Amino acid sequence: MSSSGHCIFALASAVFAKKLALSLALAQGNWCHIIIGGILTCLLPDLDHPQSFLGRRLKWISIPITTLFGHRGMTHSYLAIMAFSISLSSDLLSIIHIQLPEDFIHGMVVGYTSHVLADMLTPAGIPLLWPYRQRFCIAILNPSKCPKRERIFCLVLLICAFLYPFHTIINNKL
Ligand SMILES: [Zn+2]
Repeated sequence: MSSSGHCIFALASAVFAKKLALSLALAQGNWCHIIIGGILTCLLPDLDHPQSFLGRRLKWISIPITTLFGHRGMTHSYLAIMAFSISLSSDLLSIIHIQLPEDFIHGMVVGYTSHVLADMLTPAGIPLLWPYRQRFCIAILNPSKCPKRERIFCLVLLICAFLYPFHTIINNKL
Protein backbone atom coordinates (compact mmCIF):
# COMPACT_ATOMS: atom_id res chain seq x y z
CA MET A 1 0.00 0.00 0.00
CA SER A 2 1.22 3.53 -0.73
CA SER A 3 2.28 5.96 2.02
CA SER A 4 -0.76 8.17 1.40
CA GLY A 5 -3.02 5.11 1.50
CA HIS A 6 -1.54 4.11 4.85
CA CYS A 7 -2.08 7.62 6.23
CA ILE A 8 -5.75 7.68 5.21
CA PHE A 9 -6.23 4.12 6.52
CA ALA A 10 -4.60 5.13 9.84
CA LEU A 11 -6.82 8.21 10.12
CA ALA A 12 -9.92 6.06 9.55
CA SER A 13 -8.63 3.50 12.08
CA ALA A 14 -8.03 6.20 14.71
CA VAL A 15 -11.56 7.55 14.24
CA PHE A 16 -13.03 4.03 14.48
CA ALA A 17 -10.88 3.21 17.53
CA LYS A 18 -12.14 6.27 19.38
CA LYS A 19 -15.77 5.84 18.37
CA LEU A 20 -15.71 2.14 19.30
CA ALA A 21 -13.97 3.03 22.59
CA LEU A 22 -11.35 0.32 22.14
CA SER A 23 -9.75 1.50 25.39
CA LEU A 24 -10.65 3.95 28.13
CA ALA A 25 -7.84 6.26 26.99
CA LEU A 26 -9.22 6.25 23.45
CA ALA A 27 -12.82 6.71 24.57
CA GLN A 28 -12.05 9.66 26.85
CA GLY A 29 -8.99 10.91 24.98
CA ASN A 30 -8.37 14.03 22.94
CA TRP A 31 -9.11 13.68 19.21
CA CYS A 32 -5.92 15.52 18.23
CA HIS A 33 -3.70 13.31 20.41
CA ILE A 34 -5.22 10.10 19.01
CA ILE A 35 -5.13 11.18 15.36
CA ILE A 36 -1.63 12.67 15.48
CA GLY A 37 -0.35 9.57 17.33
CA GLY A 38 -1.92 7.34 14.68
CA ILE A 39 -0.56 9.27 11.71
CA LEU A 40 2.95 9.53 13.21
CA THR A 41 3.36 5.77 13.51
CA CYS A 42 1.37 4.46 10.56
CA LEU A 43 4.47 4.23 8.36
CA LEU A 44 6.84 2.78 10.98
CA PRO A 45 6.53 -0.90 9.94
CA ASP A 46 7.94 -0.01 6.50
CA LEU A 47 11.23 1.00 8.10
CA ASP A 48 12.17 -2.49 6.93
CA HIS A 49 12.30 -1.17 3.34
CA PRO A 50 15.15 1.29 2.49
CA GLN A 51 13.07 2.78 -0.36
CA SER A 52 9.99 3.45 1.77
CA PHE A 53 9.04 6.97 2.93
CA LEU A 54 10.76 6.52 6.32
CA GLY A 55 13.40 4.10 5.03
CA ARG A 56 14.81 6.72 2.63
CA ARG A 57 15.14 9.20 5.52
CA LEU A 58 16.42 6.75 8.13
CA LYS A 59 18.64 4.43 6.09
CA TRP A 60 20.91 3.78 9.08
CA ILE A 61 17.97 2.05 10.81
CA SER A 62 16.28 0.70 7.70
CA ILE A 63 19.23 -1.18 6.19
CA PRO A 64 20.03 -3.25 9.33
CA ILE A 65 16.31 -4.11 9.76
CA THR A 66 15.89 -5.19 6.14
CA THR A 67 19.14 -7.17 6.30
CA LEU A 68 18.00 -9.02 9.42
CA PHE A 69 14.31 -9.54 8.69
CA GLY A 70 13.61 -8.57 5.05
CA HIS A 71 10.71 -6.40 3.85
CA ARG A 72 7.31 -7.28 5.34
CA GLY A 73 8.97 -9.51 7.88
CA MET A 74 9.03 -9.14 11.65
CA THR A 75 7.93 -5.47 11.65
CA HIS A 76 4.61 -6.54 10.07
CA SER A 77 3.68 -9.06 12.76
CA TYR A 78 1.65 -9.40 15.94
CA LEU A 79 4.94 -9.73 17.84
CA ALA A 80 6.06 -6.32 16.54
CA ILE A 81 2.74 -4.75 17.57
CA MET A 82 3.16 -6.19 21.09
CA ALA A 83 6.82 -5.09 21.30
CA PHE A 84 5.86 -1.61 20.08
CA SER A 85 3.07 -1.37 22.68
CA ILE A 86 5.34 -2.53 25.51
CA SER A 87 8.09 -0.10 24.48
CA LEU A 88 5.56 2.72 24.88
CA SER A 89 4.48 1.69 28.40
CA SER A 90 4.76 4.55 30.86
CA ASP A 91 7.18 2.55 33.07
CA LEU A 92 9.68 2.14 30.23
CA LEU A 93 9.27 5.72 28.99
CA SER A 94 9.85 7.08 32.49
CA ILE A 95 13.27 5.37 32.53
CA ILE A 96 14.34 7.62 29.67
CA HIS A 97 12.44 10.59 31.20
CA ILE A 98 9.79 10.83 28.50
CA GLN A 99 6.16 11.48 29.41
CA LEU A 100 3.50 11.12 26.76
CA PRO A 101 -0.29 11.40 27.21
CA GLU A 102 -1.92 7.97 27.40
CA ASP A 103 -4.40 8.74 24.61
CA PHE A 104 -1.48 9.75 22.35
CA ILE A 105 0.27 6.43 23.11
CA HIS A 106 -2.89 4.46 22.35
CA GLY A 107 -3.22 6.42 19.10
CA MET A 108 0.34 5.44 18.20
CA VAL A 109 -0.47 1.76 18.74
CA VAL A 110 -3.60 2.13 16.58
CA GLY A 111 -1.46 3.74 13.83
CA TYR A 112 1.12 0.95 13.86
CA THR A 113 -1.58 -1.74 13.91
CA SER A 114 -3.46 -0.05 11.06
CA HIS A 115 -0.39 -0.38 8.84
CA VAL A 116 -0.15 -4.12 9.49
CA LEU A 117 -3.89 -4.59 8.84
CA ALA A 118 -3.76 -2.51 5.63
CA ASP A 119 -0.86 -4.54 4.24
CA MET A 120 -2.83 -7.70 4.98
CA LEU A 121 -5.39 -6.49 2.41
CA THR A 122 -2.83 -6.79 -0.42
CA PRO A 123 -1.83 -10.00 -2.26
CA ALA A 124 1.67 -10.10 -0.71
CA GLY A 125 0.13 -10.41 2.76
CA ILE A 126 2.03 -10.28 6.05
CA PRO A 127 3.66 -12.84 8.37
CA LEU A 128 1.21 -12.05 11.16
CA LEU A 129 2.50 -14.85 13.41
CA TRP A 130 6.22 -14.24 12.72
CA PRO A 131 8.62 -16.08 13.23
CA TYR A 132 6.12 -18.57 11.75
CA ARG A 133 6.57 -17.68 8.08
CA GLN A 134 3.05 -18.31 6.82
CA ARG A 135 1.74 -15.11 5.22
CA PHE A 136 -1.82 -14.00 5.90
CA CYS A 137 -3.83 -11.95 3.43
CA ILE A 138 -7.36 -10.92 2.55
CA ALA A 139 -6.43 -9.69 -0.91
CA ILE A 140 -9.10 -7.14 -1.72
CA LEU A 141 -6.58 -4.50 -2.88
CA ASN A 142 -3.79 -4.67 -5.44
CA PRO A 143 -1.91 -1.34 -5.31
CA SER A 144 0.60 -2.24 -8.02
CA LYS A 145 -2.14 -3.10 -10.56
CA CYS A 146 -4.87 -0.72 -9.45
CA PRO A 147 -3.63 2.14 -7.24
CA LYS A 148 -6.86 4.11 -7.77
CA ARG A 149 -8.90 1.34 -6.14
CA GLU A 150 -6.68 1.51 -3.04
CA ARG A 151 -7.24 5.25 -2.67
CA ILE A 152 -11.00 4.96 -3.21
CA PHE A 153 -11.18 2.12 -0.65
CA CYS A 154 -9.30 4.18 1.96
CA LEU A 155 -11.44 7.26 1.35
CA VAL A 156 -14.68 5.24 1.62
CA LEU A 157 -13.36 3.71 4.87
CA LEU A 158 -12.61 7.20 6.17
CA ILE A 159 -16.10 8.46 5.31
CA CYS A 160 -17.60 5.38 7.04
CA ALA A 161 -15.46 6.10 10.10
CA PHE A 162 -16.72 9.69 10.32
CA LEU A 163 -20.34 8.61 9.80
CA TYR A 164 -20.12 5.76 12.30
CA PRO A 165 -22.03 6.50 15.52
CA PHE A 166 -20.23 6.85 18.86
CA HIS A 167 -19.79 3.92 21.25
CA THR A 168 -22.44 1.77 19.56
CA ILE A 169 -21.32 -1.46 21.19
CA ILE A 170 -21.15 -0.02 24.69
CA ASN A 171 -24.53 1.69 24.35
CA ASN A 172 -26.15 -1.54 23.17
CA LYS A 173 -24.84 -3.38 26.22
CA LEU A 174 -26.32 -0.87 28.67
ZN1 LIG B 1 4.21 -2.29 5.07
